Amino acid sequence: MEQTVAVIKPDAVGTKDEIIDRIHESGFRIAAQKETNLTRELAEEFYAEHKGKEYYDDLVEHMTSGPTYIMVLSREDAVQGWRQVIGPTDPEKAKEENPDSLRAAYGKNILQNAVHGSSTAEHADVTVKKIFGDLKFA
Ligand code: ATP
Repeated sequence: MEQTVAVIKPDAVGTKDEIIDRIHESGFRIAAQKETNLTRELAEEFYAEHKGKEYYDDLVEHMTSGPTYIMVLSREDAVQGWRQVIGPTDPEKAKEENPDSLRAAYGKNILQNAVHGSSTAEHADVTVKKIFGDLKFA
């Protein structure tokens, strides 16, 4: 069983229940969940690899603009499976390439794109420790 981290970003927290329905329909178990307002420090660290990009400040601003809903999802092939469910980064591209995806349905634009998914299992582990501490999940 693999774990990944899903974040419902501030722009989509209002549709949290619909997104959680999709999570369950897609075969994931929610092993942990937490609503939290990310601090600037945590948002900067979370997206550290984007530092220097022209959208970095807007990204940190957006991620700290309101509550986020952070979940640990458990399933076979969770990392790739969840990225498939959320779709491409840009909602416009998502509508063309993966119209059933969450970003196609709920994303407003490439910055406010509704959800995050870990890119690797290692990245997921680091984020889980940071957000949920050293808890172990079944
Ligand atoms: P995430 O890490 O949020 O799951 P991703 O892996 O699909 O997204 P990345 O390229 O890692 O995409 O970008 C991280 C986030 O930065 C995106 O989800 C989006 O919010 C923002 N972003 C990426 N590219 C742009 C851009 N060109 N303009 C504005 N924001 C962007």
